Amino acid sequence: ERIYGVSRWGGGYFHIGDNGNVQVTPDPTNTEMRIDFKAVIDEIKQEGIQLPVVVRFHDVLRSQVEQLNRTFDQTITEAEYQGEYNGVYPVKVNQMREVVEEIVDAGKPFNYGLEAGSKAELIAVLAYNTNESSLTILNGYKDEEFMRLALLGTKLGRKMIVVVEKYSELLLLVKIAKELGVEPHVGVRSKMTVKGRGKWEGSGGDRAKFGLTITEIIKAARYLESEGLGHCLELLHFHIGSQLTDIRSVKEAISEGGRIYSELHKMGFTLQYVDVGGGLGIDYDGSKSTNDSSRNYTMAEYVADVVYGMKEVCDLEGVPHPTLVSESGRAITAHHSCVIMEIVGEIRSNSAEIDTAPADGEHIFVTNIRDLYLSIDHHPNLQELFNDASEYKERAVDAFKLRVLSLEELGKIETLYWQIMVELQQRFRSIEFVPEELQDLDYNLSSQYLCNFSVFQSAADTWAIDQLLPVVPLTRMDQEPTVNCSLVDITCDSDGKIDQFTIERGISDVLPVHKLNKGEPYPMGLFLTGAYQDVMGDMHNLFGRLNEVHIFSYDDDPQDFYIEEVVKGSSVNDVLGVMQYNTQGMATDVKRLIDKHVASGGMKPREGVRWTDFYESCLAGYTYMKTN
Ligand code: PLP
Repeated sequence: ERIYGVSRWGGGYFHIGDNGNVQVTPDPTNTEMRIDFKAVIDEIKQEGIQLPVVVRFHDVLRSQVEQLNRTFDQTITEAEYQGEYNGVYPVKVNQMREVVEEIVDAGKPFNYGLEAGSKAELIAVLAYNTNESSLTILNGYKDEEFMRLALLGTKLGRKMIVVVEKYSELLLLVKIAKELGVEPHVGVRSKMTVKGRGKWEGSGGDRAKFGLTITEIIKAARYLESEGLGHCLELLHFHIGSQLTDIRSVKEAISEGGRIYSELHKMGFTLQYVDVGGGLGIDYDGSKSTNDSSRNYTMAEYVADVVYGMKEVCDLEGVPHPTLVSESGRAITAHHSCVIMEIVGEIRSNSAEIDTAPADGEHIFVTNIRDLYLSIDHHPNLQELFNDASEYKERAVDAFKLRVLSLEELGKIETLYWQIMVELQQRFRSIEFVPEELQDLDYNLSSQYLCNFSVFQSAADTWAIDQLLPVVPLTRMDQEPTVNCSLVDITCDSDGKIDQFTIERGISDVLPVHKLNKGEPYPMGLFLTGAYQDVMGDMHNLFGRLNEVHIFSYDDDPQDFYIEEVVKGSSVNDVLGVMQYNTQGMATDVKRLIDKHVASGGMKPREGVRWTDFYESCLAGYTYMKTN
């Protein structure tokens, strides 16, 4: 716990057990409930499911939906706020059917609705948000079909609010609504002057991609009025960015949004809703700070700022408190899923050594770097020793290219160079001021643990925007880690790596881990992947989707659990099919080649059958490495 800080970023769901294994408490109202990840892995393997897997805890989703809604309801009561909270879940954050179903079900008692940002999402939401008392908020750029689908929902009695992102959408909406004889529920998204702080701050400001300027909002309201539809303007929306790191941006957005709502009210447009968008952050690194991967507030503080902030503006302006809507997706889904993957090897620059004993007629560079190595104990200046060793290594490579140095001599120089670096690392550990060049020694000498997963599929944001996701060993937490490592995936892409970790001294480029024991699996968990990561993965190297298990606990035995559902990941067949390969044809072609080889006597018929079966079973099999 000291090193990995699981409970700092675990949101109350993840802990380290006395047995040294990471455990999950999917329902924090029942702290007795502790599911051991090691037991989950054993069960997964017993059922013949291959790692890596995505593990989903539906109870965590339910718990987050309940927490957000209850926090709003309680704060509204405490603040004597006159409006209600009608939140929506933005499906773009995780569109998996099981995730949406669980959220809709958990949200029923709170009239918690859904938000869609594209036509495909709207088509799903129309079918899944069946609660007539909950809202459906429609964001994103819209075409005529989108508008018709939205108005179909309105005809069916749903509260479908079409949020106008650009002025021309309003003209299209009104035209189609008149044609269909349906009164639309209209929202306008405001381009805010306040900018969020964090990686997504571009969502606010004049250059924001979405939303209307103040002038356009006034024009839109007047246009609706002129069409006899002024009363259809029901919602003011704003979203200043996801993962807001600093609570000050929330406060500023509420006061700006509250003012726009109030002024519209005074102009005679009595909007019912103010939608504050997403942005509620997650503490990925556990630092509770304004780091990009953290936030300096809790869910309760966020909700209080929204409710009290809106109340204050409305009371000052003498307008009614609107119904509050928020579109938190990250906060609802991030904790509920994680990826379990296994280490399948170790890569170390200095792992191989050859005999460096002096040889007759050896090149002077070999002699020099050996002398340097032997002088470490009494060398007056370790920085100078580092510089000399680095120079010898560089010059040796040049000499090798010029055919002056043999391969064996180059190998000796490389061995001695790494031996010097290891010695220097030991010496600098006990020194407080480490020269800049030598600060990279830990990283350069660290191992790379080869992990059976794809960064591009399972942690796209770590590659795309340097998003930090906590990753920790799932077992042996009761043993001191003795190895520093970064993680590399099995794609053939050098960017397929994780070298940002949250540990006790902050964010580090290496993660302390345990020495790999031969024959003993070393499982790692990549956590907080439920928001965006789960659904953003791509097909890089044709790895495709992971196997997935849904875990539930037994009510009568909080330490026990069962796998409720297994969703098969991509097979080679699936991923090649997506790329337009005719896999059946390929199998036939390969069989024909084998048959030909058999016919010409190059292979026994039985061996031919075995190879044909093998090719077909690989086609039908999982895309990731087989480790169990
Ligand atoms: N609403 C809108 C309009 C968004 O663009 C986003 C994401 O950026 C969200 C809601 C979800 O935000 P978050 O995941 O930060 O809750």
